[in-house]
Amino acid sequence: MKRMFCVLLICLLLTGCTTQNKVQQTVFAMDTVMDLQVWGREADAAMPQLKALIGKMESTWSATLGNSVPECLNRGQTVTLTDSQKHFLEQVELLSKRTGSAFDPRLRSLSFAWGFFHEENRFEDFVLPTEKQIMAAIAEQKWDLGAVVKGYTGQQAAALLAQMDVDRAILNLGGNIQTFGSKPDGTPWQIGIQDPDGDGNVGILSIAGTMAVVTSGDYQRYFERDGKRYHHILDPVTGYPAESGLRSVTVICRDGVVADALSTALFVMGAEKGAEFWQTSDDFEAVFLLTDGRILATEGVKLSGCEYEVICREE
Ligand code: AMP
Ligand code: MG
Repeated sequence: MKRMFCVLLICLLLTGCTTQNKVQQTVFAMDTVMDLQVWGREADAAMPQLKALIGKMESTWSATLGNSVPECLNRGQTVTLTDSQKHFLEQVELLSKRTGSAFDPRLRSLSFAWGFFHEENRFEDFVLPTEKQIMAAIAEQKWDLGAVVKGYTGQQAAALLAQMDVDRAILNLGGNIQTFGSKPDGTPWQIGIQDPDGDGNVGILSIAGTMAVVTSGDYQRYFERDGKRYHHILDPVTGYPAESGLRSVTVICRDGVVADALSTALFVMGAEKGAEFWQTSDDFEAVFLLTDGRILATEGVKLSGCEYEVICREE
């Protein structure tokens, strides 16, 4: 009996050790700082694989690296795609249709006209694009998958971890969070929604299991001119940074590509249209931070630490 107890104790300790093995690393990729935390027996082995995946996703899908798929397509070159890459591009097209092109994957020239690819907009002598230049840039229809690449990367990272002896992980890919697995005690992940005006959080989301939690905000990339903020989320109709009464949108969804495309699209739509869009969907939840300080959350969201209004399904 005593021997059996000892064996049981050793087993328990070993299981404990396995879940205790945590590896954390910070990487700079896709023009942002990424924080990777992985728990489990193969957490060490997972890190270089995750970093290689992130690097590969950046070189394949970047809007600025010359040999990426979108840049080859933009030059009119024929590109041979893998089945999974084809599937990604098909999904992107469907999401563009689904959002009435609020998510538009062909706005590269427009982002360029606003200086978001060359950062000239940071300088005082950067001249804002004219109406004519804006319309010409929209018409060019050049690929830019910047609104979905991080979500896609999070999703691929979760698929990679699922093939390894990894218990759980939380990957912060610069505003895009991908959770993987559950905590040993079954409690949900606690994920802050960033305060657009500071380093803190405006509220905390409880997220269960493997999920993408993606935020698009006017504070993530912007410049100011004459006291006005010009941010990087562009309205494909007006060609200007979207002015929809929002500071940020956070989307919670099992599919990282959907989460990322919708965070951008809902930001363009604004809270009212975004709420209507949610009412006709069943694959995501969302939190809207409004410019007037209000917080709106769809009814499936578990949010604490702040006051908010709940968006319900219509009867
Ligand atoms: P996100 O941070 O996911 O909202 O993505 C913003 C990035 O997507 C920008 O930096 C642009 O490269 C690109 N982008 C801007 N506006 C749009 C839009 N309406 N639809 C799709 N991509 C966009
Ligand atoms: Mg996005």
